Amino acid sequence: MGVMFGFVILFLLISAVFMLMMAHAAWREQVPRGLLLSLSGGALLIAVSVLLVLFHTDPVTILVTDVLFWLFLTFIAVSLLPWFPALPESNNGKIEQFDERNHMFARGNLKFYPELGNRYHQLHPEKKTVDEEIWKLPELGEPGSKFYDRYVGSIADSAFDLLDRSYTPLSQRPQVPIPVEPVEPDKLVEAVRIAAFQYGAVDVGVTALQQHHLYSVAGRQAENWGKKVENHHRAAIVFVVPMSNGFIRHAPTLPAILESSHCYVESAKIAHIAAEMFHRQGISATAHVDGHYQVICAPIAEAAGLGHVGRMGIFMHKVYGPSVRLSVVTVDFDLPESTGNHDYMEHFCKICKKCADNCPSRAISHGDKPVSRGFAHWSVNQENCYTFWRKIGTDCAICIRSCPFSKPDSPIHRIVRAYIRRNPVNQHLALIGDDLFYGRKLKISTRNVKWKKLLASIKRKH
Ligand code: SF4
Ligand code: SF4
Repeated sequence: MGVMFGFVILFLLISAVFMLMMAHAAWREQVPRGLLLSLSGGALLIAVSVLLVLFHTDPVTILVTDVLFWLFLTFIAVSLLPWFPALPESNNGKIEQFDERNHMFARGNLKFYPELGNRYHQLHPEKKTVDEEIWKLPELGEPGSKFYDRYVGSIADSAFDLLDRSYTPLSQRPQVPIPVEPVEPDKLVEAVRIAAFQYGAVDVGVTALQQHHLYSVAGRQAENWGKKVENHHRAAIVFVVPMSNGFIRHAPTLPAILESSHCYVESAKIAHIAAEMFHRQGISATAHVDGHYQVICAPIAEAAGLGHVGRMGIFMHKVYGPSVRLSVVTVDFDLPESTGNHDYMEHFCKICKKCADNCPSRAISHGDKPVSRGFAHWSVNQENCYTFWRKIGTDCAICIRSCPFSKPDSPIHRIVRAYIRRNPVNQHLALIGDDLFYGRKLKISTRNVKWKKLLASIKRKH
């Protein structure tokens, strides 16, 4: 048997192993279609290898081996090619800040503050009708929505309440003496990273705080609604907490909001501890957590080199995709910045469009990045999206669930992530594979998962 023959058999066997790894991932992620396809594919590859070995002297086998050899060789050469077309330059200097009063959560809240609602709608009369229609729908977690559950639903409500009520007491800190020794930024960041990873983060990034990272005007809390956001800190540290695939795969039912509220609490915990650590070194620091952000986390995480803001307008982490929750600490101190280029994620978003195809409220664009606030970026139609949330009583997350980047950090998905980083051909092939194994259109459940099943899966994780 020649070198060509050995190469073909080796390639077929490696592909079979890949299929078996895929089957393992599909089993763990409970994707029956993927399991069936990968087991069939693995069996087929092994069968072809056996047939080639058994009939290796047959002229047809020799011809097939020749064809497969060149095919596989071409595939390897193309797969390794590191090339992407250049993306248009972005000019951050021209970005207009976002007014938090325009955020859908802030507008939803105005129902409880009629005077602020009137003031807002004098400024934005075009938003009055849609806001009033949304106000008529049940609040998230209230009876009347599709996935309402009096008992399990109260987990998310309680978590969001905890975040809200704990923010002010946790942010008020007693004076501490300024340390005599100067602060060593590297050592301090290292300590913050240790705390973050210990408390459940999977990534930490640091960047210089830019004006466009801050909201222009506060809008989420009635106490400071309409006030200019004042934050003159110099650096921002962002913490990434991953959401569990075991919950997000049930999106848009109740487990989706259970997990997002859980990860908002976890990320807030880290931000508060980190802010306290800076404070103890005599450095002014502010924790930015759900409901109490002065900053927009997504561009900070992107600037810190942790990933990219994708088609659904939210941050996509380089490993966990959009299935993450973020918190930030801003500090009045210069810190060593983290870096990373993840333009390949934007190239993938251009061809993928899976979130747009699956969004039930058609809130995600299929088109190129439009320009708004002075820069090209994707964002969702927040009125459509939030109306859907209020109808179903959860934060939906179908887009997050459908995203090929949301896969767990298992060996097979690590291989695929490395593969799509190299060039557009790999990305097209990987997308075909994702559609084949996971389906282009998700099957959406119309009722909540059985709670005993969910509890069993949480216990298994522990
Ligand atoms: S689903 Fe596809 S298009 Fe949408 S954010 Fe994820 S990678 Fe981008
Ligand atoms: S959360 Fe749901 S409704 Fe909103 S953009 Fe994503 S898929 Fe669409």
